[in-house]
Amino acid sequence: MGTRVISFYEQFECLATKCPNTCCRGWRISIDNETRERYEKEEGAEGFRLKATMTFGEDKEVRRFFGRCANETKEGLCRLQLKGREELMPEICRIYPRRSIRIGDDEEVTFELSCPMTARLFLENMSDIRMVDYEGDEIVPLWIQHKFNEKHYDDILAIRDKVIDYINSDAGISELMSNLYYYYRKLHSHVMAQDIDIKTVPIMGHVPDKEEYKYTFYSFAIIDRIIMNDLKDGRFSFQDALYDFSKSYNKIFGKMTAAQADDFFNDKCEEIINKYPKLHDKYKAYLAYYTYQMLYSSYEYVTFYKEYLLGNVYLMLIMTSDVVDFVNGKDMDDMERQIKNLNNIEKRLRHNLSIKKNISHRLEEEFIKIKEGYKF
Ligand code: SF4
Repeated sequence: MGTRVISFYEQFECLATKCPNTCCRGWRISIDNETRERYEKEEGAEGFRLKATMTFGEDKEVRRFFGRCANETKEGLCRLQLKGREELMPEICRIYPRRSIRIGDDEEVTFELSCPMTARLFLENMSDIRMVDYEGDEIVPLWIQHKFNEKHYDDILAIRDKVIDYINSDAGISELMSNLYYYYRKLHSHVMAQDIDIKTVPIMGHVPDKEEYKYTFYSFAIIDRIIMNDLKDGRFSFQDALYDFSKSYNKIFGKMTAAQADDFFNDKCEEIINKYPKLHDKYKAYLAYYTYQMLYSSYEYVTFYKEYLLGNVYLMLIMTSDVVDFVNGKDMDDMERQIKNLNNIEKRLRHNLSIKKNISHRLEEEFIKIKEGYKF
C-alpha cells in the first residue's frame, strides 16, 4: 500500500513562459466547490475580481476570453500563482498535468499527455513505461474513490498486470488492438453476469482463420467521421494544429471510398512501421500507458470495455497523424513534431468532454450496436 507514480514522474518540470501550448488556454476549467467557497469568502478587490471570473449557472467554470483563461497574464502565466495565492486556483489547475487517483490506502499518479512537457517525457521514456513506488512529498489526489472492495481492487490490478505483460510481449500492435478487444468484451460480460472470477479470464486470440490482423481496428467509415465531424466540435480555429491535420487528412483520404481508405491505411502503416520501428514502439507504449490509467480509473465504474474502445480511437488517430505526415514527406524522426501531434490529439480528444461524448455515442451507434447487437 502506498503511492505509485509513472516511471518518468520525477523528471517533470513545467515549461511556464516557454510553453508552446500552455494549459491556461483552450480548456473549460471547472471550479470545484471548495475553491468556489474561497471565492465567496474573499473580500475586497480580489474577491470582486474572482467572482467576476466565474461563469453563471450551477456548475461554475472559469470565464475565458478568446480562449484564454481570465486569470492568465499577458506573459502566459497564472496571475493567482504569481501572487502566491495557489489556494485560489481551481483544484484541477493546482494538480495538472498530474492525474492522481486514490483508492483505499493506495494512490497512483500519472500525467495527462495534453501537456507538451509530459508528451515529451512520454516519448523519451517510452521503452520504460511502468509504475514505480514513490516516497516523496504527498501528491494531492484529484479523485478519491471512497468505496473500497479489496477483492475487486486486487482483481483490477491482476487484470492490469496480465494486459501489460501481453502488451510487452512480442505481439504486434494490430494483434494487440484486436485481441484485447475480445478480452475486454468477454471480461465485461462476466462482470455483468457475475459468474466467474474475472481475473482468471485468459487473453486469447479470436481471429477467424482467413482473417489477418489489421491496423484498421475501426474502419475508416468511422474514423473519417470522427476526424471530419466530431473533432471539430464547432471550435476548430485556424491556429489549431489539428486544423492542419484534418486538412491534410482530407486531401489524402477525402477522395477514397471507406474500403480504399482501409487498404491504404493498412499498407502505409506496414510501410512506416518497417521503416521506422520506433513508431511501432510508440503505439505499444501508448497502449501500455493508456492501460495503466484506464484500468486504475475504471475501478469504481467497471467501464473498461467502453474506455478501451475509446483508447483504440485515440491510438488510431495517432497512427493516422503519422500516416498523413509520412505521405506528406515529413521527417518521421522529428521529435518536436511527434510531441505536437501527440499533445494535440490528447488535448483535443481525450480531455474534451463534449468530443469524448460525441465519439462514445458514435461508437455505440456505429460499432457496438452493429458488432454486438445491443446498445451499451
Ligand atoms: S501545459 Fe505543461 S508545461 Fe505548459 S504551462 Fe501547463 S503544466 Fe507547464
